[in-house]
Amino acid sequence: MATQQVALCGVRDQFPVFGQTLPNGQPVTFLDTAASAQKPNCVIEAEERVQRSHYANAYRGVYEFGAQIDEELEATREAIEKLIGAEDVSEIAFTAGSTMSINMVAFGWGGRHLQEGDEIVLNEMEHHANLVPWQQVAERTGAKIVYIPLTEDGQLDLLAFDELVNSRTRVLSVTGMSNMLGTINPIRRLADRVHEAGGIVVVDGAQSVPHAPVDVQADGIDFLVFSGHKLYGPTGVGVLYGRKDLLEETDPLLFGGHMIDQVTKSGSTWASAPAKFEAGTLPIVQAIALKSAIDFVNELGFEAIHEQESLLTRYAMEALSQVPGLKIYGPRLEDRGAIVSFTIDGAHPEDLAQLLNRKGVFVRHGHHCTMPLHDLLNVSSTVRASFGVYNTTEDVDQLIAAIEFARQRLR
Ligand code: PLP
Repeated sequence: MATQQVALCGVRDQFPVFGQTLPNGQPVTFLDTAASAQKPNCVIEAEERVQRSHYANAYRGVYEFGAQIDEELEATREAIEKLIGAEDVSEIAFTAGSTMSINMVAFGWGGRHLQEGDEIVLNEMEHHANLVPWQQVAERTGAKIVYIPLTEDGQLDLLAFDELVNSRTRVLSVTGMSNMLGTINPIRRLADRVHEAGGIVVVDGAQSVPHAPVDVQADGIDFLVFSGHKLYGPTGVGVLYGRKDLLEETDPLLFGGHMIDQVTKSGSTWASAPAKFEAGTLPIVQAIALKSAIDFVNELGFEAIHEQESLLTRYAMEALSQVPGLKIYGPRLEDRGAIVSFTIDGAHPEDLAQLLNRKGVFVRHGHHCTMPLHDLLNVSSTVRASFGVYNTTEDVDQLIAAIEFARQRLR
C-alpha cells in the first residue's frame, strides 16, 4: 500500500538516523519508540551548541557562560511548565528520568506520609518503575498495596476501582499509558475518586506525555513524572512535577550540594523546591536540549501527532490481525496509544525479533519491564511494535513483510 503520512509530512527528514542504509542493505524500520525515541536535528544540534559555545556548571557561576546556562535551564523549566499546565516553575524539578522521579515521590512523599493501615493503589499494567519503589516503601512503612483488577481487554476495571478506594487510600500511582498494552488510562476519572477519598494521584507520564496533551491542573494530577529520552529529547534527563504544597512536604531523596539552605557542622536545612530536589550537578546539556525537544513536539502539535499515530496504530492492528496465529494484547484502537504488543503461535518472541532485525525491523521483545502483567496474561514474553512521529505506513508494511519472512523460517 502507498505511504500514508498525512499529518506529519516531512518530519522523518528531521531525524538523521533514517538517512542511512544498514550494512545488510536494508533501510531502518525503527519500531521501538516506547523504549526510547530517535532524536531530531534540533535536539542533536542544541546539545552540540551548548558544549561548543558556552558550557559551564549551573546555578554556581556569575560569569557569562554560567549565567547563560542558568537562563537556558530556566527556559526549559518554563517550557515544561507550559507543556504540562503547571502553576509555577518551582513545581518542576530536573531528575535523571521517570524511574528516579517515581523513587523521589515514593520515598520522599510516601516515606514521610505513609504508615501501617494506609493503602497504595497500583495495578498490574504498571512498569516496574512504578511498582518496585512502592513495594519498597510499603515494606518500610507498613502500608499495604492494593491492585485495581484489569478487564479482559487490558483496561482498568473502573467499577472495581470505585469500590477499592476508601478512607485508607493515601495514594494512587498509575501510568498515563501502558508501555505494553498501549492502554490509555482515564486520569481525571481516577483522580476524582481518589481525591474524594482524601488520597493523592501520581501519574507515570513516561509513555503518555510524548503522545498526548497533559494538563496537571485540569487532570487532577498531584505528581507527574516523565523522561526526556522518550520525548525525542536526550537521555539522562527527566522531570518531576509536584503540586507546590505537596513538594513542601516531600523529603529530598539525594543530599549534597545545591539542595541546601544552610549547612553547619551539626546539621543542614534545605533550599525550597525545585533546588531541594536537584542535589549535585544536573544533566545540564541534556536539560537545555530538552527544550528543543519540547519545542519540536509543540510545533508538530498534539492533534497532528495523535492523528498520525492513530492512523499507524489502526493500520498496524488491521495488518497484524491478518497474520495467522498472531495475537494482539490490549484494548481496541480507541482506548490505546501507538503501541501494539503481540505473540505468534509457535514463534518465540526473541527468535521473531532476531529475524525481524535481519530485515532492518527493530522491535522490542521480552517482558517490557511488566512481569506482573505478563503473568496475568499468562505469557512470558511478547513482541512490541511502537510508533513515533517519524513512522509511516511503509514501516508497518516492512514489519508485516518481515514477519512473513520470519514465519517461513520458523515453520
Ligand atoms: N514508566 C513507563 C510506563 C515506561 O515505559 C518506562 C520506560 O520504559 C519507565 C517508566 C521508566 O523510564 P526511564 O527508564 O526513562 O526511567
